[in-house]
Amino acid sequence: MKIKKAEFVISNTDHLKCPVTEKPEYAFIGRSNVGKSSLINMLTNKSKLAKTSGKPGKTQLINHFLINDEWYLVDLPGYGWAQVSKTLKEKWDKMIRSYLLERANLFNVFVLIDSRIPPQQIDLDFINWLGENGIPFSIIFTKADKQNSSKTLSNISTFENTLKKTWEELPARFVSSAVNKVGQKEILSFISDINN
Ligand code: GDP
Repeated sequence: MKIKKAEFVISNTDHLKCPVTEKPEYAFIGRSNVGKSSLINMLTNKSKLAKTSGKPGKTQLINHFLINDEWYLVDLPGYGWAQVSKTLKEKWDKMIRSYLLERANLFNVFVLIDSRIPPQQIDLDFINWLGENGIPFSIIFTKADKQNSSKTLSNISTFENTLKKTWEELPARFVSSAVNKVGQKEILSFISDINN
């Protein structure tokens, strides 16, 4: 798929106020600083579509972008800020969980995982919650340029072996680098295949 058009549509705190549409929707989420904004910019070839690293709590919004007038890319606020208050965490939880559970045109959630580090409980908990609730998702291992490919593969395999303890089937998985544009083609064709 070629991205010909990528435009910001609206930001919301309430999933009920998100665009009323039957167009397919793909959400991106991960721990703060995982490289989500950089990945979205890389996928859409727009260096400033998603904002990179804000302060904790500043980007607690569901952001809709319309791609090629065909599908929505949704930038969800990251989880796992160390410094945020319990109230903000609860707000995030309520907003994100209701969006994920109730958004009828949500076709897939891309969960971003830092390819450099061992499995983090917060990521595993989030993935398990998606699985338990039957929400379709795939995993993108980010920042692959920061190490050699054998290290990336070994970290992915550790992560997937951890998932296998709970799940019979593994989700689709991608490797990305916003610096080297790795993963762009694969992720966009995955979306294009589902759309068609
Ligand atoms: P977000 O908080 O998940 O949206 O993360 P950002 O996209 O703002 O990225 C966090 C930091 O990681 C920034 O300093 C980025 O420049 C850096 N970063 C993001 N993706 C990559 C990548 O693929 N490779 C490298 N080397 N750095 C990255």
